[in-house]
Amino acid sequence: MRYLSTRDSKTAVTVETAIASGLAGDGGLYTPELIPHIPATEAMLDMSYGQRAAAVMAPYLDGWGTATLEGFADLAYGGQKYDSPTPAPVNKIHDGAYMLELWHGPTCAFKDMALQMLPHLLVKSLRDTGEKRTACILTATSGDTGKAALEGFCDVNGTAILVFYPRDGVSDIQRLQMTTQRGGNVMVVGVNGNFDDTQTGVKSIFSDPEMRAFVGERSSFFSSANSINWGRVLPQIVYYFSGYLDLVKSGAVTLGDSINVCVPTGNFGNILSAYFAKKMGLPIARLICASNSNDVLTEFINSGVYNRNRKFHTTFSPSMDILISSNLERMLYLLSDYDSAFIGRLMSELASNGFYKVPDSISGVMRENYYAGCCDDRRTLATIKSCFNEYGQLLDPHTAVAYAVYSDYRRETLDSTPTLIVSTASPYKFCGAVLEALGKICDSADQIQVLESLANIPAPKQLFELRDLKERFNGIVDSSGMARAVMDWIGG
Ligand SMILES: *Cc1c(COP(=O)(O)O)cnc(C)c1O
Repeated sequence: MRYLSTRDSKTAVTVETAIASGLAGDGGLYTPELIPHIPATEAMLDMSYGQRAAAVMAPYLDGWGTATLEGFADLAYGGQKYDSPTPAPVNKIHDGAYMLELWHGPTCAFKDMALQMLPHLLVKSLRDTGEKRTACILTATSGDTGKAALEGFCDVNGTAILVFYPRDGVSDIQRLQMTTQRGGNVMVVGVNGNFDDTQTGVKSIFSDPEMRAFVGERSSFFSSANSINWGRVLPQIVYYFSGYLDLVKSGAVTLGDSINVCVPTGNFGNILSAYFAKKMGLPIARLICASNSNDVLTEFINSGVYNRNRKFHTTFSPSMDILISSNLERMLYLLSDYDSAFIGRLMSELASNGFYKVPDSISGVMRENYYAGCCDDRRTLATIKSCFNEYGQLLDPHTAVAYAVYSDYRRETLDSTPTLIVSTASPYKFCGAVLEALGKICDSADQIQVLESLANIPAPKQLFELRDLKERFNGIVDSSGMARAVMDWIGG
């Protein structure tokens, strides 16, 4: 299967090149030229998560073989890495509403589901393409990708990783997780700015010919661990299949029955993976796209106008504080039937005017597939409180946004189709907000313990231990200084 750049369909590469390079040279996102059909079958019901991963991913990875992929899945999802019997357990909250819990991995957020797998995909891609240079992985994070990428790539041969995070845009625990990272090939730098500034900075370093030459002379090249890399999106398709199969196994639905999914969304990577699962044949009826006060996607799905000219809100769900959702580009590429000239026009309008409008034909299909809604901070906290009081479920703020929008959807449409609500982070990662929701204000050093005494789930020990680790990285730059930071890192 070939992968095409969203900005020039004539640029067609193998999956190995797509994964090794992350972003196409023209700034486009590599997208598979077709979507294979893989029905969820009886036989998959008794498979382990790793076996399901191999079955779902294999058609996208020509010639890699199921045995190789099962081996990778063992490394990514096996052993003691997850504090649950399966990496992505499904947990019923009430009739029709099921949490797909994706935060049982090493960094307590759903990013682990892809970033534990990506290094294996990338290292094999480097080997298969005969690449001898070092892959310098530049990563912009809104909080969770950074730590998950550092953990995934820490001391992986042939790679080095630099993470940029928005200095005031992440929670205390998220920052500490990154600045205390161990490993000889890692670097972490704060940026004065928000996530969009950080992501835009990284993307422009990627496509800057001088920067590419600079790294080339040092026997290196840029790659990405952001969801612009197809190797991030692919492993995320797996848990939609797995969640569905587990619903069938538990008797909540019958094989073949439809479900909905509800996804707390920022960069549109997670919900794009759900769309791929649907197109592969998984019976997903509606994709519910939940945003926080940064409601650019809500407006887009409801009106066809994408407009980033609006106030940027710093919220309790920082991993969704995004106004430029990169992966929407892949979605529109699919819906426009791979019209790269059209995508190129939209993206240059977005870059120069900050907005674009898609034709009614496309926004109509968007609305058939998606429902979109948003939830502000006040309601996020109220939702955390009510879910805890009514169902004994402690939600992190991102998951609470999803639950609130799911409730709106159900009230508005009276659609009671069983719904997988994607639970993207451990509540312990956002202790401050969760405690505030429950009306308990305490010293930040005691938060994890106080929360643990209230909740009925144990706190992940890696978060407890953060306090005792030394901070290794304290560099902060302006967004104009990001290229310099990359040069110092690679050159020094
Ligand atoms: C990254 C993240 C999101 C948003 O996911 P996208 O793929 O960027 O849409 C939501 N919740 C949490 C906790 C995250 O870390």
